[in-house]
Amino acid sequence: MKPSVPLAGVVGDPISHSKSPLLFRHWLKRYGIAGHYIPMPIAAENFEQVIRALPKAGFVGLNVTLPHKTAALAIADKTTDRAIMIGAANTLIFRRDGLIHADNTDGYGFIANLKAGAPNWDPFWGSAAVLGAGGAARAVISSLLEAGVQEILLSNRTKGKADTLRSDFGSRVTVVDWIEAGDAIEEAKTIVNTTSLGMVGQPELRVPLDGLAPGDVVTDLVYAPLETGLLATARAAGCTVIDGLGMLLHQAVPGFERWFGQRPEVTEDTRLAVL
Ligand code: NAP
Repeated sequence: MKPSVPLAGVVGDPISHSKSPLLFRHWLKRYGIAGHYIPMPIAAENFEQVIRALPKAGFVGLNVTLPHKTAALAIADKTTDRAIMIGAANTLIFRRDGLIHADNTDGYGFIANLKAGAPNWDPFWGSAAVLGAGGAARAVISSLLEAGVQEILLSNRTKGKADTLRSDFGSRVTVVDWIEAGDAIEEAKTIVNTTSLGMVGQPELRVPLDGLAPGDVVTDLVYAPLETGLLATARAAGCTVIDGLGMLLHQAVPGFERWFGQRPEVTEDTRLAVL
């Protein structure tokens, strides 16, 4: 028999750094919902076995973080188009019919955060420069293209990875050599850092930023620190700057709504709850 109180959680390895429990518990309390959200460290070799057992214990779904995002996509019975395009799942829904449904909400979270921080942002303003070609870049590129951005200037230290994204996402993506990333920034109106550079414990992002101009929208996926070197330079140049914390909060909205029946709002209180 299933418990009447819905259970959800986040799986990863490690998981102790995850901010999702703070976030979900904040929303459960805010909306007075009886439910639980549990962080679970799961080793890769146990992933599928544990996931398949959880619905029987009353779980309605899971957030998935590293290193399980591709395994989560692989074990799902149904997948959204956006999860397939991104090649990874960060949200699993355990349906009543026993099927596991996989989604990827990172791109949704990215665009929702962009629009919240720059309400006038328009995909038809001009090119977007995307720095980095890892897992997060796939979600960002997919969502920018879906929003209508006509050209993405993609620059990554390892050019081969950018070339792979160009062949996966098509001709609206133009690969720019890492050494010329400053030119892409100068040309673009929307600039996104998806590399881990600028994060606590990582080197600074060292690409020329003198092409940043007032009116540009600059966002960083890194959220520790909240104001990265890129964002500080962009702010001083008169750009609209958007930190990465909002993406983390917004990407959780669809899962919470699905599992607990309430669409949660991302507010200043929500930010404070996870900081
Ligand atoms: P990933 O797949 O490991 O990709 C890392 C990216 O950073 C690659 O493009 C890599 O370039 C680049 N990079 C790393 N060290 C570099 C260096 N020294 N010089 C130049 N480039 C370097 O990681 P990911 O999953 O895409 O995540 C990237 C960042 O986004 C992380 O900081 C993560 O925390 C953040 N993130 C934030 C959110 C959010 O909700 N705000 C969501 C997802 C991810 P190479 O290909 O050349 O190695």
